[in-house]
Amino acid sequence: MSSAHNLNPAETTAALREWYRGAARDLPWRVPPGSNRVPDPYHVWLSEVMLQQTTVAAVRGYFRRFLLRWPDVAALAAADDADVMGAWAGLGYYARARNLLKCAREVTAQGGFPTDEAGLRALPGIGPYTAAAVASIAFGARAVVMDGNVERVMARLFAVETPLPDAKPLLYAHADRLTPDAGAGDHAQAVMDLGATICTPKKPACGICPVHSWCAGRLQAAALPRKRPKPPKPIRVGHVFMARRADGALWLEQRPQKGLLGGMLGFPGSDWCEDPVGFAPPFAAPWQEAGEVRHSFTHFHLRLAVHAASVPMDAPGDYIAAAHFCDSALPTVMRKVFRAGHAALAPA
Ligand code: SF4
Repeated sequence: MSSAHNLNPAETTAALREWYRGAARDLPWRVPPGSNRVPDPYHVWLSEVMLQQTTVAAVRGYFRRFLLRWPDVAALAAADDADVMGAWAGLGYYARARNLLKCAREVTAQGGFPTDEAGLRALPGIGPYTAAAVASIAFGARAVVMDGNVERVMARLFAVETPLPDAKPLLYAHADRLTPDAGAGDHAQAVMDLGATICTPKKPACGICPVHSWCAGRLQAAALPRKRPKPPKPIRVGHVFMARRADGALWLEQRPQKGLLGGMLGFPGSDWCEDPVGFAPPFAAPWQEAGEVRHSFTHFHLRLAVHAASVPMDAPGDYIAAAHFCDSALPTVMRKVFRAGHAALAPA
């Protein structure tokens, strides 16, 4: 639901256009508003793909280096995969770099970028946002460009109380109402610039905002967009065993490569489940209760009952000598287990 207000789409769009003419950020991939130059689709596409994962400040250098090395899409298509992956290093999400290359090769095979959203969407690694951005900015098509910035500006301008993600269709409809038939690319960039420089997430500068007069949400701007509260994280429980020999060596195992903490060192133990699990010590030893370790992962909270024992030199298991062990090599949760177990046992 959005509250009633007197936003006039034509006036709001005109005010944004006017503001953008004077305040557009100077970006290396951008053609300034009012310029006669036509934006290069390769520049627009490359910058939008890079910007999906990091900030404008970080992308500037990568963009410049890519253009120096691969000045057009055909040059990028002919590049060695390893060279492109190397040049991408530091931008993260390597699947995007692989898709970038696939896309460059497909575009080159097709003889150029498709000029409409549907054609662009069909290319590897191009989602709705990038397709709309390239179609409108590079080809002047009327396309509605939605990303987190645009959603925030629309939620505020139209005082949308519905929380995200349910509000997405409504925010899209509002963005659609404001998108002009001509100049959709500049309009999209104006909204993005407004979101990046004035209608910022935490402290929107409503006092200097060019669309202040039409904004229904300015008095509650910092609270918009609303977000659906996240469901509470489940709690998983388990048991973990720290066996220490008289020479200080510790029983540790490498966790399976796949799954949580994959390939990292850890103390052996039970599975981690939402229902309490029964447990049997891995072998007979004077196991002591060494307290509970709590740790939060992205999707759940973990509570581990720690059992610690001093074990004989011929106890079963793979041991790491004290001289080769450094607790900083353990993932955080296992470091907590080590501290709890260590505190419960008499000095080795
Ligand atoms: Fe954002 Fe404030 Fe401008 Fe509204 S008036 S669009 S809340 S900066």
